[in-house]
Amino acid sequence: MSARTPFVAGNWKMNLDRGAVRSLCRHLATLAREKPPARLGVFPPFVYLADVVAELSGSGIVVGAQTCHPGESGAYTGEISARMIRDVGASHVIVGHSERRQLCGESDADVRARLDAALAAGLDVILCLGETLAQREAHATASVVTAQLEAGVTGLSSDVVARRLTIAYEPVWAIGTGLNATPAQAQEVHALLRARLAALAGDAAAAAVVVQYGGSVKPDNIAALAACPDVDGALVGGASLDIRSFATIARLGASSPRPARSDR
Ligand code: PEP
Repeated sequence: MSARTPFVAGNWKMNLDRGAVRSLCRHLATLAREKPPARLGVFPPFVYLADVVAELSGSGIVVGAQTCHPGESGAYTGEISARMIRDVGASHVIVGHSERRQLCGESDADVRARLDAALAAGLDVILCLGETLAQREAHATASVVTAQLEAGVTGLSSDVVARRLTIAYEPVWAIGTGLNATPAQAQEVHALLRARLAALAGDAAAAAVVVQYGGSVKPDNIAALAACPDVDGALVGGASLDIRSFATIARLGASSPRPARSDR
């Protein structure tokens, strides 16, 4: 029996410039030396990925990309493959972020193709999923997130699910809006996702998977969210751009270790 280590990750989206990235990395390296109770990660824009890998080398902070193309190589102007992300030293990629689903029209099948490409290239994956406000108001949250989870996970081995997958539950209505799910709302969905994971990949894998919450996470709401038994850290957008906010979230983003039945 081991414990899931909460994972607090910053999604920088299309923000910052080179100087700000370097400055943030220096502060992050200092934060990592303080050994906050959560595992830390950052997801910079593609053009800064190699810089961030170099700046954070040896810090233990996970560095990943915000998406990848499903193809290996070829005539895809403007796209970046999973293998390229791995080649510059990153270890992770986010797939299925709601901004990609909404702004770029990525379907569940598109998300799955990116997830498969990432795993094949040796990247670990954060799979984002979540319902829109209209879906929540129509009481469709459970069916929406279950369908997104099944599209992303069905057919993966228990070992891959347990060791290489993180789920980020991000209600679309909470992203960048200042509205966040209440701890009860988050816990309800996280428990549902874990139960569905158990059906798809077995109890041990389900117990091992880190399920982050994302959506307007801030220093003043993270502690209550992190206290939920199935909330294992956070995927943080806006607040990850400010080192003081991110450091506080990193320190408060882990309550007591959660039980799991296999090592990650
Ligand atoms: C996100 O983009 O994943 C996110 C959760 O953004 P924010 O924290 O700004 O709501």
